[in-house]
Amino acid sequence: MAERQYDYIVVGKGLMGAAAARHLSAHSPNTALIGPDEPSDRPSHVGVFGSHYDEGRITRILDPDRIWALLAQRSIARYRDIERRSGIPYYDEVGHLAVGPRPDGSEDYVARLHAVAKELGVVYETYEAAALRERFPYLAFEAGAVGLYQPHNAGHVSPRAQVRAQTAVAAQQGATIVRETVHTVRQAGGGVEVSTEEGHTYHGAKVLVAAGGFSNTKQLLPRPLDMTVYARTVVLAELDQAQVEHLRGMPSVIYHPQTDADRCYLLPPIRYPDGKSYVKIGGGPLDRALRSLADLVAWFRSPGDAQDARHLTELLRTIIPHLRPVSLHSESCVTSYTRTGYPYVDLLPGGRIGVLTGGNGSAAKSADEIGRMGAEMLRAGQWACDLDAAHFRAHFGGMGHRGDVYDPARLSQAFLTQQLVDPGRFGRLEGRIRVARIVQAQVVARPVVQIVEDPAKVDGGRTPKTYRVALGLRSPRLTKMR
Ligand SMILES: Cc1cc2nc3c(=O)[nH]c(=O)nc-3n(C[C@H](O)[C@H](O)[C@H](O)COP(=O)(O)OP(=O)(O)OC[C@H]3O[C@@H](n4cnc5c(N)ncnc54)[C@H](O)[C@@H]3O)c2cc1C
Repeated sequence: MAERQYDYIVVGKGLMGAAAARHLSAHSPNTALIGPDEPSDRPSHVGVFGSHYDEGRITRILDPDRIWALLAQRSIARYRDIERRSGIPYYDEVGHLAVGPRPDGSEDYVARLHAVAKELGVVYETYEAAALRERFPYLAFEAGAVGLYQPHNAGHVSPRAQVRAQTAVAAQQGATIVRETVHTVRQAGGGVEVSTEEGHTYHGAKVLVAAGGFSNTKQLLPRPLDMTVYARTVVLAELDQAQVEHLRGMPSVIYHPQTDADRCYLLPPIRYPDGKSYVKIGGGPLDRALRSLADLVAWFRSPGDAQDARHLTELLRTIIPHLRPVSLHSESCVTSYTRTGYPYVDLLPGGRIGVLTGGNGSAAKSADEIGRMGAEMLRAGQWACDLDAAHFRAHFGGMGHRGDVYDPARLSQAFLTQQLVDPGRFGRLEGRIRVARIVQAQVVARPVVQIVEDPAKVDGGRTPKTYRVALGLRSPRLTKMR
């Protein structure tokens, strides 16, 4: 059944899609935002899911990557206005602490944080080992760790409430909110036809596909994006009131210790819809790609990976030694990594269908600026942002083929890691050497990455090996180290 004709349709009522709909509807009230609400019963839900079904996402400008820092800075500057206009609070400015090893040539995480923060005029404080313990006595990090603390314009957002706030403002501006699931987007006549599983068809002069980790499912795009969706597990520790008081003032934390497998992030105590307060920890290696709609749905219905949950629980006990949780449980989520390490914000040939996806595990805080870029691009029919379009260009099909050219200056750590953690891809890259399961992929010096096999996965009594991989060449070069 044919229904209304819209100027703009956004597919996906998640963090990026709701933001884009707010920006588009500021120019045309004849905008539709199509996507389902969060399922009420996750384990039995058989439809699509989103990566924003939570109460805590870290927000910060401190970032080793200048582009990501800029996207965050621009978004954070608008949080309070969106809260005021929607009447929905979603931002808690408790500050952010980034902790890493002292820069020593091979590890430049902290050095890059300093450099980007200085360039963007971010106000922050630096704490060396003893001062770090004194300033945050309830947190414990490895010897020699350095902390950069951003007290303002940082803390955490509720991704659920942010989507509600963006959607509310879009609706105030006249946008139509359609709580349906799209199965097909296709060019038809001079516009685009959007068909939903509920049996309705909507017509848009232009359509933006912002379906997160589900963007490559159903027939939302004519060709699959070059994007890998990874299964992620988080652990939530329920705290009693005394523990919440003990951690009062705790900032959101990102921790990069020497051991890559122990990289993690923490959210301070946050009250959840069940009325309880939880500290959350997430992180760990990106080693499980979800390749089909069935895989995605099954993962979202699960409580996450039990082994990852155990590892995260141990890390939590190490970082907050005095924590005495009332209960612990794990949850599942997904992150979508692009070839570039930045979101894809691009128009398909013909200029009527745009893509807006690929959060690379970092887009919650920056979704408003990413949504604005997508909205401006769709309106103008071309790139319409001051940042270089090349960063946000969509790539399609597979990746990591022999002969690909990687510009080392452009490669983000996320991208390098993504290239190497997927054994299937790695096999394609190198042909002769198959790595059973990579447990560590560490940038040791750009563009050289060190990877380590998982001994548990090595069959036939072979000894696990460490390899070095040089990217940035016409064909990535791999050297066996031992
Ligand atoms: C565990 C975890 C922790 C994270 N922590 C942080 C953090 O601390 N800070 C940070 O900045 N970022 C963080 N992120 C990343 C952030 O949550 C994502 O980058 C962000 O959610 C991506 O936004 P999106 O709009 O692309 O996807 P989503 O928020 O997932 O939205 C996609 C929407 O599309 C809808 N959809 C899917 N298919 C269809 C369809 N066929 N028809 C209609 N609608 C459809 C879904 O229902 C969903 O609402 C984290 C992610 C995870 C998983």
